[in-house]
Amino acid sequence: MKQVKVQIKINPEQINLPGAIRKEALKAAGLPDNEDISTRVLRRSIDARSRKPHFILQVAIGDPETVEPQKSVFTPLPLNGKQVVIAGAGPAGYFAALTLLEQGIKPIIIERGRTVNDRRKDLKKIYTEGLVNPDSNYCFGEGGAGTYSDGKLYTRATKRGNVGRILDLLIANGAPGDIRIDAHPHLGSNVLPRIVSKMRDDIISCGGEVHFNTRVDSFVLDGDRMAGVIAGGNEIKADAVILATGHSARDIFYALADQDIRIEAKPFALGVRIEHPQPLIDKIFYHQSPRHENLPAASYRISTQAMGRGVFSFCMCPGGYIVPASTAPGELVLNGMSLAARNAPFANAGLVAEVKIEDLENPGDPFCALKYQAAAEKNMFAAGDGVTQQAPAQRVNDFIEGRISKSIPKTSYIPGTYSAPVHELLPFIQSEALRNGLKALGKKFKGFDSNEAKVLAVESRTSSPVRIPRDRETLEHVQIKGLFPCGEGAGYAGGIISAAMDGEKCAQAAARMIS
Ligand code: FAD
Repeated sequence: MKQVKVQIKINPEQINLPGAIRKEALKAAGLPDNEDISTRVLRRSIDARSRKPHFILQVAIGDPETVEPQKSVFTPLPLNGKQVVIAGAGPAGYFAALTLLEQGIKPIIIERGRTVNDRRKDLKKIYTEGLVNPDSNYCFGEGGAGTYSDGKLYTRATKRGNVGRILDLLIANGAPGDIRIDAHPHLGSNVLPRIVSKMRDDIISCGGEVHFNTRVDSFVLDGDRMAGVIAGGNEIKADAVILATGHSARDIFYALADQDIRIEAKPFALGVRIEHPQPLIDKIFYHQSPRHENLPAASYRISTQAMGRGVFSFCMCPGGYIVPASTAPGELVLNGMSLAARNAPFANAGLVAEVKIEDLENPGDPFCALKYQAAAEKNMFAAGDGVTQQAPAQRVNDFIEGRISKSIPKTSYIPGTYSAPVHELLPFIQSEALRNGLKALGKKFKGFDSNEAKVLAVESRTSSPVRIPRDRETLEHVQIKGLFPCGEGAGYAGGIISAAMDGEKCAQAAARMIS
């Protein structure tokens, strides 16, 4: 039988009933319920536009063989004597390593932080002692910035690579198969670490090397060609270098500039973490509270314009926690995470406004955006007790009206909050854009600007404030042959999936260059 695909609508009450999906799918296709016919859900999303949210499913119907999915698998080749240094063990770095192994090239991964499990101890110290280890924190360490996160696995950059292959490889390393079906899949902080360590085991067992607690400090150049790196005081020679150090590795940007390797300022976005009780978000976006038990915690992605710039939500974490994502002592940076169940009582998201290069002092300085970002983070830390990662906070309505809140509602942010004029602590342009933007969003989404919600600051690591320019075709740095700027830090990805896809692309380009 030729495979057919149908789209069906299923209510939350029916979604887990045995046989319900099959029955609806066969009915939609006008087929009898015959045991020779198989059905398989290809895609699952939630439509919450109407008063009653429901699931939309795309279902394949056909012979058992035709409806079975085709899976990409990891197929390493014997090593051929060539080697590539990869700086950074984030998604870009690890997927680059797997791709190189499929070309018979040895990856040598250099990672400043600790293994994914040891990293937990450093995260704990941020909470218990206010201590931020500059090499091991929410951004640095094995697995990269996305490891202790919400683990959202969707991207709008679907044309930049093969999303399905990345998801298949994650499944092969222990992710649940549902990530291939859900329109908005996520993993959660309790699932990602074991996937990351399984990927490392594969890389090492196929002949790759992974060096932890080792920072790349500078580059070995042979004229205009990259010949290796200096890391942990040692020179490591390489046929190519993939630089995948993420958006927070400020020292790498300075190291590049010190060696006259061109970098450019890049616009980014900055603002606050906004946190609501999850039932309020369910009410606004599902039109029901309590939500049906078969519906996941409601999420949102919203945007508006204010002060001539975009104001938008970023990295929304339903049923999640706000976390301290600073990468050095003396700064305060917030982000969000969740567990697989997304069952915490709060919903948080970045709410940020664009930072345009023309707004900044010295727009010709490649570090102008980075300096603006760093100043806001230092300012936020200095406003506090000077020791812990306690965050300044304000009720949303008070933030809009510009008055200090008499009290701050309960929060998921473990280091704690204190009442402060966040509207004054933020840079002026972003503060004004957010306050005006929130007014507009409150009109559109009733309750979003309520005083039950609060803002904490600062959300500033939305994307890299620097771009490392590369050739569109060869993906090599515009000046330096054999250097492949890669992933989010170089300005070519935003999120786990797009960083992984860029890692694959850079590895393929490096393999082409070497052979
Ligand atoms: P990174 O993941 O940043 O990895 C860079 C690696 O390089 C790090 O391991 C770092 O330690 C290492 N490094 C840095 N400097 C050096 C050096 N000098 N020498 C050696 N190693 C170095 N994205 C999503 O898609 N979904 C989410 O739910 C999500 N939630 C997030 C939550 C949090 C708390 C954070 C911080 C980020 C989140 N992100 C999320 C963003 C996502 O993590 C990044 O987009 C992604 O990890 C970028 O991948 P990357 O490999 O380019 O860089």
